[in-house]
Amino acid sequence: MTSNRPVRSRGSLLVGGALASLVLAACSASTSEDATATTTASAAGETTGATEGSGTTDPMSLFDDGALTSEATTVDCTVENGSETTCYQVEVSSLPSTVETDGPYCPATTSDVGGIWVWDGEEPGLYALDENFWDLMTAQGYEFASSDGAITVTDPAEGAASSSTTENSCLEATADGTYHLQVLLPVTPENLDSPTDLSTISQVGLALDGVTIFGDAPSVADRGGLPALDTCGGHIDPSGYYHWHFGAESIQTNLDEAGAEVTCAVDQDVEALLGFSFDGYAIYGPEEDRTIPDDLDECSGHVSETADFGEVYHYHLTYDSPNLPACRVGAMAESGLTSPDNDQASLPSGDGPGAAGPGADGPGAGGPPPAGG
Ligand SMILES: [Zn+2]
Ligand SMILES: [Zn+2]
Repeated sequence: MTSNRPVRSRGSLLVGGALASLVLAACSASTSEDATATTTASAAGETTGATEGSGTTDPMSLFDDGALTSEATTVDCTVENGSETTCYQVEVSSLPSTVETDGPYCPATTSDVGGIWVWDGEEPGLYALDENFWDLMTAQGYEFASSDGAITVTDPAEGAASSSTTENSCLEATADGTYHLQVLLPVTPENLDSPTDLSTISQVGLALDGVTIFGDAPSVADRGGLPALDTCGGHIDPSGYYHWHFGAESIQTNLDEAGAEVTCAVDQDVEALLGFSFDGYAIYGPEEDRTIPDDLDECSGHVSETADFGEVYHYHLTYDSPNLPACRVGAMAESGLTSPDNDQASLPSGDGPGAAGPGADGPGAGGPPPAGG
């Protein structure tokens, strides 16, 4: 650490005492005096080093202000492999106060700019929902716009009626901030025999902003509807709650590399702690010490020194789109994601491919049933 500074200030203290009190009298509490006081204190207290990487941080203290709607508690829980253990129990709002949740999602016309989408058809990739994207869709035979350029926008909660038409629609659900989601996070993660693929079972984790993170959104090619994401990679579920399909804190890199001319308003920090996987492990941004770690496993995780928890297993986001870990190495708690006050919330249950059913994200109708269910 900065061993020079305490030594220097300790020396200057011998002659600087009187001067310091003069300065104090002249102008109260300037920032330079605060810095001096801090340096002096650390010199007096010697080099404790207790503020860095001690590995004893309470994970629940790391959530953003206002992210949790009640204080985190510790409860008995059973995880996927049958083991009985202890979990943190946290509760969040269906509509967080920590982030913007009102889009834009679907643009009104082909010449407006909406949110974003990860297109998985021909010419796959991350796109802004702008004129270029709708031109691409038209060229591939999809009909999202009428002849006058108006985008067909459907509320997926009411979308069944239009599902029999061949027309495509941009899906934009109505927010419902009246209920809560409850998440269980194992205090001590336990690894599964083999990792769980997070593109078919979509629960990824809980972000520090109190927003749940899910894997791949449904394919337009399968379902006909495009559940638009906002420019930070989140959107409203048909049952009204906001959730992420990206780690928002590094999405601008993806947007810029893709040439999507939109901006995410969430502060960008490619090394920050993003949140926790449902198996209890931490998820960090794609970089560590300004580089992408070269020893990541298939789930984009590794054991390495962290700023918050010491040397532990943790995941990293990627610069793919979506940028989430592809799989989960640890066991999720049974009933690890529920709503205590809305049994109509369409939450992925974690019971396997297809368990999410048509509830998550789309009307489900209008295309063939999901393969392999
Ligand atoms: Zn790491
Ligand atoms: Zn979604």
